[in-house]
Amino acid sequence: MFQQDAKEASAILGLTLTRRNGVPMCGLPYHASHSYIEKLLKAGRKIAICEQVRLPRDGKGIADREVVEIISPGTVVDEDYLDRGENNYLVALAGARGGLSLSAVDVSTGDFAATWIKPENRIEGLRKEISRLNPREILVQESLLQEDAEIQKFITGRKDLVINTLPDWSFDRESSNRRLLELFGVVNLKGFGCGEEDPEILSAGVLVEYLRENAKNALVHIRNFRKYSDGDFLVLDESTLKNLELVRNLQDGSEKYTLFAVVNHTRTAMGTRLLRRWILEPLVDADRIIARRDVVDRLYHDQNLLNRVRNGLSRIFDLERLSARIALDKAHGKDLLAVKESLAGAASVYDLMRDLVLRDSMLPPETLKRLAELQLLLERAVAESPSILLTEGNIIKNGFDRRLDDLRELQTNRKKVLDAYLEEEKKVSGIYSLRIRYNRIIGYFLEVTKSQTGSVPAHFIRRQSLVGGERYTTDRLIELETLLNTSLESIVELERELFLNVRSEAKSCIGMLSGMSRFLAETDALQSLAQAATLHGFSRPEIVRGTDIMVSEGRHPVVEMYLPPGEFVPNALRLRGEEKSFALITGPNMAGKSTYLRQTALLIILAQIGSFVPAGEAEIGVVDKIFCRVGAQDNLARGESTFLVEMNETANILRSATKKSLIIMDEVGRGTSTNDGLAIAWAVCEYILDSVGSKTLFATHYHELTVLQHKNLYNLSMDIREENGNIVFLKRIKEGPSNNSYGIHVARLAGLPASVLEKAAVILENLVETKEGAPVAVGSTAKPAVKQQNLFSSREILEQEVFSFPVERSTPLEALNFIAKWKKIIQSEKKNA
Ligand code: ADP
Ligand code: MG
Repeated sequence: MFQQDAKEASAILGLTLTRRNGVPMCGLPYHASHSYIEKLLKAGRKIAICEQVRLPRDGKGIADREVVEIISPGTVVDEDYLDRGENNYLVALAGARGGLSLSAVDVSTGDFAATWIKPENRIEGLRKEISRLNPREILVQESLLQEDAEIQKFITGRKDLVINTLPDWSFDRESSNRRLLELFGVVNLKGFGCGEEDPEILSAGVLVEYLRENAKNALVHIRNFRKYSDGDFLVLDESTLKNLELVRNLQDGSEKYTLFAVVNHTRTAMGTRLLRRWILEPLVDADRIIARRDVVDRLYHDQNLLNRVRNGLSRIFDLERLSARIALDKAHGKDLLAVKESLAGAASVYDLMRDLVLRDSMLPPETLKRLAELQLLLERAVAESPSILLTEGNIIKNGFDRRLDDLRELQTNRKKVLDAYLEEEKKVSGIYSLRIRYNRIIGYFLEVTKSQTGSVPAHFIRRQSLVGGERYTTDRLIELETLLNTSLESIVELERELFLNVRSEAKSCIGMLSGMSRFLAETDALQSLAQAATLHGFSRPEIVRGTDIMVSEGRHPVVEMYLPPGEFVPNALRLRGEEKSFALITGPNMAGKSTYLRQTALLIILAQIGSFVPAGEAEIGVVDKIFCRVGAQDNLARGESTFLVEMNETANILRSATKKSLIIMDEVGRGTSTNDGLAIAWAVCEYILDSVGSKTLFATHYHELTVLQHKNLYNLSMDIREENGNIVFLKRIKEGPSNNSYGIHVARLAGLPASVLEKAAVILENLVETKEGAPVAVGSTAKPAVKQQNLFSSREILEQEVFSFPVERSTPLEALNFIAKWKKIIQSEKKNA
């Protein structure tokens, strides 16, 4: 590496930076390049491999060098550089019709899909896709990156992401369309559910072009393309993915303590990747959900079958990525052996699952037959423990090819002839210690020890003198050596040729191998869900056509797993689509609110991927979107939460949620002063009730909200009991609001001085009195003034603020802002009076 490359790489790799003629340079041993490449990829760098391709003709001067390979994080297929349980996506992004065209391809598995993000949803939609796909490399349209500050900030803000900026002219709908047609060899894209005008095509074509230039062979493997939109899957936006800890936890971003960790009992890498994707993309089509669930059900009820399927799968390697390496002409002997093993296992798993295969994954008898033939071919052809190089022989089995067998026989015979020749020379010379040896420099030679050199016959030709003896050759030995070498060369050459034939035969089955991989991944994911249901006592949910959600004895699958058996308190839930769609949940800290909220979301997600659920019984009306928001203070782990972020997110929910959505709000409005927070929480509740109509679970410590009344709203609280002067959190949900006096109660238990407690009790009473009597109805019919529910009157707020305003420490601008605010408060008081 030279110049700037050398400077950066030496820092990343810990290499010594040197200089020659003032040019910074650094290097590494080529045979260890693998581990260095891995580090560079992890650091989000692209690597160009240059080799000397031709030596100069006269042996002097500089050898020709060429870039022989470009390795980038988004295009690698070598399993050493990949995470086995995760897809490795390369993404392309372009502006299209005011929104964004976004495509993703996983070269290591052949997965290829595209979507269009609508103009009104640009940033949120982009965040959602990127957090779901978690790409390592992205291609972005230049003007998009330069002109859209928000997109620029988001993209460049992701660490370890390789960003390739492409000029605008390379994003051309017509050429994109043409590239896709060429790739799939079709006349139009109708078969993929696409029309020529679809904005998705723009970025998809750019991906194809990029691969054509940088990883040409990868394209062989890409046989399918799917266009998807928000409506195809349960929508889970970025914060929801994070807050629900579906595949990554909030503490360290690892898989531990996630929903995925609980249900992942897959046995193959393909299954692991697919299950992970299912969790990030739950279904919304009831028929598809039921089809999956029914397979899970069958496996669950036939544990014998389940175990046999699990055993069958455990013999299977990563056929998906092996296929990719075959497509890329990168598969070596061991890879083909792994394909053979996998095909044997696959056939038996397919047989076991014969009646249970989902419709889209069924394989025609012809495919099964061809794959069985391929398996036989590999069985006959590939050596038991083959060399992974093509230049050493030892890749093809004996008995596979007549010519090879003959050459090998010849080789063995010639060795025998060599032995016979040695015996002959021993007799002739009378030197019985005579030996034939070999080294790379002088080839075969006769070795004679010093004491015997006097007896050397005249036809021995001296090649080398050593301290201990002399090395000779003879005309006959040279002749034998040539024969031996040529037969060895012919063997290596022939083995190589045979191997390439076998590999290209495998390559001709790529489509079928992909089909089989899909079936295996799916079977693995399904059996994993059946196994999870068995291990964790999940039960079969009913998927109902309406919008109601009914759960009895629901549990939080992750929290439950880390508690001693029987300690988790199950809870029921009922959310109706029409009335009682909104549950307002109160109760002190540590009562179990957050857990209850999240378990509901997790349960629905499990149901919609086709899984059983942690509940006694469950009826799930399919949900279209889930939003999970956590108030700023509850959310410090994220490190970025400010009140503004919280409000941005809330705004987005109110814009995007529908009647079929589920909204989970945990302590929203907490990031600001009590009055602001309460007012906002109040208004948000009203808006959801009156204008959105989503099913909602709203947990709050603002007890004041429990006076809200609406036909769709009902109160729940977490039950608490006092036992010998201790508060016991029962973790049980009950109808009705919670008792508001727990705060002071807890304070007493904590040993606050009696005078403080007395004073607090008086203040509390005063506050309660200022509320005006009966509960207030909300909704368009009877709009209450929020003011009525304020803890303090405007006058009191004003006084407080004036007194606490830090005159000597504030800037003129802050002061002006304050005056404006006071003015507003007074105005609104006048209006309300
Ligand atoms: P809150 O949101 O009301 O403050 P959390 O949901 O955070 O309460 O729960 C507080 C603690 O109680 C957590 O440590 C959690 O593990 C435990 N917990 C919550 N719900 C249950 C339950 N149903 N059964 C047993 N333990 C629970
Ligand atoms: Mg909480």
